[in-house]
Amino acid sequence: MSSEGEKAMIYLDNNATTRPLPDVVAAMSEAMQLCWGNPSSKHALGQDAKRVLAAARADVAALLGAQPVEIVFTSGATESNHHVLHGALHRPAMPRRIILSAIEHSGYMKSALRLRQEGVEVVLVPVDAAGRIDLDALRESLQQDAALISVMAANNETGVLQPIPEIAAMARERGIPVHVDATQMVGKLPISFAEWGVDLLSLSAHKFHGPKGVGALLIRKGLSWPTLMSGQQERARRGGTENLPGIVGMAAAARHARSCLADEALRETALRESLEASLLDQVPGVTIYGQDAERLPNTVCLSIAGFSSDKILDRLERKGICASSGAACSSGGSDPSHVLLAMGVPGSVALGAIRLSLGLDTHATDIAAVVNVLQELCRPEAPLQNPAAVHAN
Ligand code: PMP
Repeated sequence: MSSEGEKAMIYLDNNATTRPLPDVVAAMSEAMQLCWGNPSSKHALGQDAKRVLAAARADVAALLGAQPVEIVFTSGATESNHHVLHGALHRPAMPRRIILSAIEHSGYMKSALRLRQEGVEVVLVPVDAAGRIDLDALRESLQQDAALISVMAANNETGVLQPIPEIAAMARERGIPVHVDATQMVGKLPISFAEWGVDLLSLSAHKFHGPKGVGALLIRKGLSWPTLMSGQQERARRGGTENLPGIVGMAAAARHARSCLADEALRETALRESLEASLLDQVPGVTIYGQDAERLPNTVCLSIAGFSSDKILDRLERKGICASSGAACSSGGSDPSHVLLAMGVPGSVALGAIRLSLGLDTHATDIAAVVNVLQELCRPEAPLQNPAAVHAN
């Protein structure tokens, strides 16, 4: 996997980002060289680009069980999420009240909570100890009108899945628009926008082997949602010249995901289960978060009693293993993960959590290597032969 001369590397941070596939890179390169017209131009070069854009839209829609017309290309899930938030509060005659699960993506959550300063009521629905949304609390929150309910399909830190069709049905009964951040689920498990019955869905291409800086917001056909950026592109739902190379790259990644999703989900689930069984068996003090819930095939969030996440990550790094502490977006910060806190994990313990996220390039030998490194880390130091010698220096 690594190029010649590079140190061999084991990449277990696929929830932060994934390696762009060769087909993705080739499709993007071809689009940049041969199809660089503006899809809004009326001349032949522009019309070529328009056709390529339409084909890419169909490929992305097919992966998501959506209609092509429901896809709005964006710069990624962050933009899509903010488009949802902005739109919810700008629709006519909507209550200034929004509902979010307590474990939404950190950036989105911060923007939503900031709205409290503008007088918006922001309700956070709790999760249980396994990271599953509390459906009774959700039902309760839906008793009052709201402009939006947002629940992520799969958590980026723990991989825990939420029962989206059930949540969507509850919200629909009350006529409240439902948004799902499916960024971590796309390309890992099957998704059907139509069958889920949700109104809005966010995603980013780089989480499923596409390029960075491109993604989509799905808006259910027939739903009018105020735009964040005016312009005639994307049926006036998102202004700005389309990022055609990025969109074409995302379409190539979507085609690849469709072709191998089912087999790959089974393969990664088996690897994840073997990783977890080995860790629990061979590394003392391991806790795996969300273990009792349905989870993504690829994600393990864990802590090891007595070890900080920095210490574990440093050891992994020195052995050529890339992982991260909780969410990549919040790693580096000294605050414990809001996701683990919401699951009732004490702050001091949550600070020790790391995330191993497997992917297309992960094999059984990588799993064995990680278990080995963590086992070594936890092995009690060999007692000094002659303690007095230490003091003699
Ligand atoms: N939502 C979730 C669940 C994510 O995992 C991420 C990326 N970590 C985002 C949103 C934001 O994606 P991007 O940085 O590509 O905009």
